[in-house]
Order: sequence, then structure tokens, then C-alpha cells
Amino acid sequence: MVDQNCQVAPDCYDAAHEGEPMTQLLWQIPALFLGAFALAFATNWLSLIPWRRTGSAHWTERARLLWPARVSATSNTLVIPAVLYLTLKLCYPQAAGAWFLLVVAALLGAILGTLSMNREIFAGYDSRRLLQHLAAFWVLHLGIWLFFLGGVALMPEEFGWVTLPIIIIILAFHFFWQYGLNLKFLRLVKLLKPATPRLVQIVQQTSSKMRVQVKEVWMLEGPMAQAYAFPTTNVLLFSNRLLELCDDAEVSSICAHELGHLTESKTTLAGRLLGSLAIFPWLLIKPAMNYLGFFGLVLIAVLMFVVLRFSRSLSLRMEKRADQIAKENELDDGAYAQALEKVYRENLLPAVNPTNKQTHPHLYDRLLAAGVTPDYPRPKAPAKQTRMGMVMAMGVGFLVAANFILPSLHGGKPLIANAPTSYTNSPPLQNPDPQPIRLLSF
Ligand SMILES: [Zn+2]
Repeated sequence: MVDQNCQVAPDCYDAAHEGEPMTQLLWQIPALFLGAFALAFATNWLSLIPWRRTGSAHWTERARLLWPARVSATSNTLVIPAVLYLTLKLCYPQAAGAWFLLVVAALLGAILGTLSMNREIFAGYDSRRLLQHLAAFWVLHLGIWLFFLGGVALMPEEFGWVTLPIIIIILAFHFFWQYGLNLKFLRLVKLLKPATPRLVQIVQQTSSKMRVQVKEVWMLEGPMAQAYAFPTTNVLLFSNRLLELCDDAEVSSICAHELGHLTESKTTLAGRLLGSLAIFPWLLIKPAMNYLGFFGLVLIAVLMFVVLRFSRSLSLRMEKRADQIAKENELDDGAYAQALEKVYRENLLPAVNPTNKQTHPHLYDRLLAAGVTPDYPRPKAPAKQTRMGMVMAMGVGFLVAANFILPSLHGGKPLIANAPTSYTNSPPLQNPDPQPIRLLSF
């Protein structure tokens, strides 16, 4: 029986609806998980169609067609959860209270939805090892993301005594990570193995010839031919696939490139560390929007964009420098160019990047700089991402606007959240809660 008093008494209203958001979560969490899985699976499957159709084409053409599908698959693991969560929030504003659980469910669904795509691309690689590699990769990335999102969730809307400790904890973790925790994790999940005697010998010979000190060398398990240098800890990492693919002179030339990174200046290292903090401003999204409204969101996005631009141009300059060092130290003429082409072909990376503003130069130009003219014409640049990927990304923009701007306009709430407001005349759209939609709620 409906209590008539509930129509007017706010306390009674709250008590009567107390259990509702919890009950709704019971279907919202699995719905977001399954929805994200299905969307990721379907969009990835469709985006691979152009690549599937070119089985016999030159590797540069296959890599060119695969690129947008890969970029969209990666961005969709974040974009799909954002689209689904923001859509849900628009229809059920109470869902905002449990955003962390909902976003995690959608993230897991989207990640699982990309597994089949990876199996298709790396069809020649043992599927159990591939799954192990991807699981470790995602635990690594998801762990970092969840830690960061936890910081965002705990960050109060107003600057207070907890603001600084949250910033310090997140920053401390980030720097521990950069200074060796990352490699400890990779060892823990058994993706790093001790270097083989062959690799140890190549690195020893190359580093003593170049007079560069290396602290540790490790082998990375995985389907890609890769090598990494960590200037923060003087550690080098080579994938087992790279060592299977390249002869000693080629591995030595790749090693010389990585050693080139270890000789970068302290200022460059500082610049690289600054670049690694590109997403850090998002930690302050709640107080920024509390004090500055929608402008706070724009400010943070612009800040991230500027740091990313700087970081990419720094990386590009340093890659050209490392390529030059590799060329100067190669054991056989043309060994570095051969190694580079083998790596790109194996990993199906395009010979020409979609833009000139990537972290690495175009392979075609790297080969020319290494003294080798490829026996094929310069390939066309790939698309930046698939059309579906672009639509999804635009969807996020639209939904952010719909969630943050429309309710405030409709409710007569100004963009500056601290300004006095009145909701008595026109309650916000689709909000059954007697409380107004809070501009800042996530
Ligand atoms: Zn490099």
C-alpha cells in the first residue's frame, strides 16, 4: 500500500528507495560486462575484414590494412566501457554511485572481447602461450589503470587534507614502477626469463665496444619481435622472437640502438619521465570540475594533449639518434636495416606511419637513413583508425556532453558548480532522485 506522505516527505522517499540502486546493480554489472564483450568482439571481427582479404599481398600492404584495426581494438578497450557506462548513467543517474564496479565490469568484458582478434593475428604462435602473454599484459595494464582510477575515486571534490597524500601515493607508485617495479612484475608473471648465453655474449661485445654500461639483460616471452631499453635502470630486454628471427650481427645492431637510448642525457630522461605522467592530471578531475566546471575538464584534456605532443616529439628525436648510433656500430654493412625490416614484417607494423607525429620515424625513412633503399615503392600511409572506431570515440564525446552539459542546462544549473542554483522550478531530466544531478558526480 502506498503511503501518501511519501509524496512530500524527502526522508520517507529515501527510505522507500534505499534498496533500489543495489537491485539495479545486479543486472547493470552483468549487462555492461556482456555488452562490452559483444561490442568489442563484433567491432574487432568486422574491422579485420580488409586485412583478411589480402592474404597474398605484399607484407607492407597487409600491415597497412591491419594497423587501423589494431588501433581501434586498443582504443575500444577503453572507449566501449566509457560509451556503455555513460549511456547507463544517462538513463539511470543513480548508477553513478557505483561507477567503479560498472566500469571494471565493462573493462573486463571489452578486454575478453579482443582475445579472438589477437589469436587471429598471431595465428602462428602457440595459443596457450599467447593467452598467458595477454593475461599478464592486461593484469599489468588493468592493475595500473585500476590503481589510478582508485585514486580518482578517492580524490575529494574540494582540496583538503587527503588530496596531497593521494597525489603522493600515486606519484610514488608511478616512480617505483618506472625504476624497476615493472621488471619485477614481468619476472613474477614469468614473462621475463634469464638471457641465453648467445644474447649475453652479443650484449657484452656490443656494450664493451660502445663503452656503455648495462646492468641487466633479460629475455621477454611473447609473439612479437621486440627490444627495449630502460634508461631509468640501465636494463635491456630482448624478446625470444627477435632472437629467433635475427642473426648475431642483426641482434648486435638492435642492441646498439638500445644502448643508444641508455646514453641519452639526464634532461632527456627527465623529459621522458614527464611524458610518462601524461594522464596524471586526470587524477584531479573532480576538484578541477568542482572549481572550474566544464572548463576544468577541457583544461585537463588540453594539458594531457600538450604533454603527449611533447613526449612524442622527444621520442621521435631520440629514435633518430639511436638509429644513427646503430648504423655507426653495425658489424656487417646493412645489418641494422635488415634487422629493422625483419622486425616490422614479423610484427606486421606499417612501413609508413599514419602521421609524422608518432613515437618512431617511418620504417621506410629509417631504412633509407640506414643506407638501404627498399625494393618496393614507398607504401601509402594507413588510416589512423577504423570508421567504427572513430564513431565510437565521437560517441564518448557526445555522451560526456549529454551527461555533463545537458542536465545542467536543463536544470538551470550554471557550468560553474559552486554558483548558487535553484532546482525548484524544473528538475533535471530523467532523474527520479529528489536530489539534483550533481555536475561532478562520476
Ligand atoms: Zn628506440
